[in-house]
Amino acid sequence: MSDNHSSNANEHVEVKTKPLHFIQQIIRKDLEQGIHKNIVTRFPPEPNGYLHIGHAKSICLNFGVAEEFGGACNLRFDDTNPEKENEEFVNSIMEDVKWLGFQWNGEVKYTSDYFDKLYEWALHLIKSGLAFVCDLNAEQMREYRGTLVEPGKNSPYRDRSVEENLALFEKMRAGEFDEGACSLRAKIDMASPNINLRDPIIYRIKKAHHHQTGNKWCIYPSYDFAHGQSDAIEGITHSICTLEFEDHKPLYDWFIQHLPVPAVPRQYEFSRLNINYAVTSKRKLKQLVDEGYVDGWNDPRMPTISGMRRRGYTPAALRNFCERIGVTRSDGVVDVGMLEFCVRDDLDKNAPRAMCVLRPLKLTITNYPIDKEEILTVANHPNRADLGERTIPFTHELFIEQEDFREEANKKYKRLVLGKRVRLRGAYVIEADEAIKDAAGNVIEVRARLIEGTLGKDPADGVKPKGVIHWVSASRNLNCEVRLYDRLFNDEAPDAGGKNFLESINSKNLEILEGCKAEISLADALIGASFQFERQGYFCLDSKYSTAEKPVFNRTISLKDSFGKEEQE
Ligand code: ATP
Ligand code: MG
Repeated sequence: MSDNHSSNANEHVEVKTKPLHFIQQIIRKDLEQGIHKNIVTRFPPEPNGYLHIGHAKSICLNFGVAEEFGGACNLRFDDTNPEKENEEFVNSIMEDVKWLGFQWNGEVKYTSDYFDKLYEWALHLIKSGLAFVCDLNAEQMREYRGTLVEPGKNSPYRDRSVEENLALFEKMRAGEFDEGACSLRAKIDMASPNINLRDPIIYRIKKAHHHQTGNKWCIYPSYDFAHGQSDAIEGITHSICTLEFEDHKPLYDWFIQHLPVPAVPRQYEFSRLNINYAVTSKRKLKQLVDEGYVDGWNDPRMPTISGMRRRGYTPAALRNFCERIGVTRSDGVVDVGMLEFCVRDDLDKNAPRAMCVLRPLKLTITNYPIDKEEILTVANHPNRADLGERTIPFTHELFIEQEDFREEANKKYKRLVLGKRVRLRGAYVIEADEAIKDAAGNVIEVRARLIEGTLGKDPADGVKPKGVIHWVSASRNLNCEVRLYDRLFNDEAPDAGGKNFLESINSKNLEILEGCKAEISLADALIGASFQFERQGYFCLDSKYSTAEKPVFNRTISLKDSFGKEEQE
């Protein structure tokens, strides 16, 4: 089974008639003024979880501007926190970036590639009298730090000599101290109004195995000490990050100013993507996974890139969405309806049509021979001849949806009614004569007559069908399971204002239907390929649970937005 999704990634991204966003403007100016000849950006994930829709925005921005301005974009794992990171996360992130349709510059990079350099630069700060080994424990450190309104206090270890600091730092590196016994701190200003500048920790003891460097290190640089310097090493010209790092910029600049770095990166912040009916904190997503609310990081209900892929969202839809939401510095919440619009829009244009009966009801065509089978040819898409045609068998016994038949109904019901006519999609007009019921009074079979000469034509007697319904042959079909997903949360802002997001999980977020009957051509469906099941929505084969014996189709999205609305007739 192969992945069929990555095609068409560029094809349907909106044509850029929009004005440039502020980051594009900055880059254009820097290039025009010769400040940079080429631009280099990077996407810097911490491999401590799977990527989500918010990361897609950052990926589209960083890789997008690099592509647009003929520059390069690195993929760098900011891997300074070995206890929370692992190779599974590294691999999933690479897969997601590629699936979105981007290729990073050269080899994948890791902050851990620079641990030797960063260690050397820590020594440099010590030798310059700008870093010291501090023995305060975490709690004391908090007391000494002060608050937003009160300055902090100098650590009693702040005035250790350079020689003593060098010796102690060497002992830290050699594993002679326990975790938490001491740390290396930058000597900046305990009275700074910016708490990030109050002698921040730059190296911690962590006796942890690292997924890239193994057991080489038992001290690790802080994220803040590593981030800007890694950008400098890679020659990143535009370090694009989210707004919460704005307050860290003075610290990044301080390091760059006091270290012999090869280049000076500039940081630009944009606002995070927040989307309603979802949580996008990795910690909360991890909780949903770890506590079994969902079936893994790539559960089709998750707002993760891998979850959306498994659900049948396409790279083109996600890229188009990221294009539409734009890049600004003002915080806001994007309506998930916009994402769903982009998904429908792409699938409507590109997904071949097929028929699948989700809740089958037997339909017997009484005037059609029992052993006859006609092969009908139908178009795969109503207005894309390039998507070709397929064949479907028409037989004596068929299945239709239970909800597509009523013994009696008012005029608004445009489906099959006793004594009335309906067209079977791509096939004949039929008229229902009889409903067979079980002991409980449920209709278990409909007996109908085929109106001769109605293949592609209206009935000769002028009595037109009420509507068109989908169907499959009862003797030649693909038995399958269908999973209908709904939103994971029924609260628009599940984690706003300190709410417990677990309390607003939508209890009806998954409905599993067994014994669904799909048209036989779907036996050849590939993992990741999308289909419109006529009148039902967009579906794709599930990559986790599908087997040759029992294909499982995920509903990517319904045809229309029906969330929170009663079924309309
Ligand atoms: P954490 O740091 O808590 O693990 P994170 O969401 O910041 O989580 P990172 O792996 O650090 O995850 O993110 C990588 C990049 O993606 C960063 O540059 C970050 O700013 C960006 N990013 C993360 N979340 C969003 C979001 N919701 N919208 C836009 N960009 C985001
Ligand atoms: Mg982060």
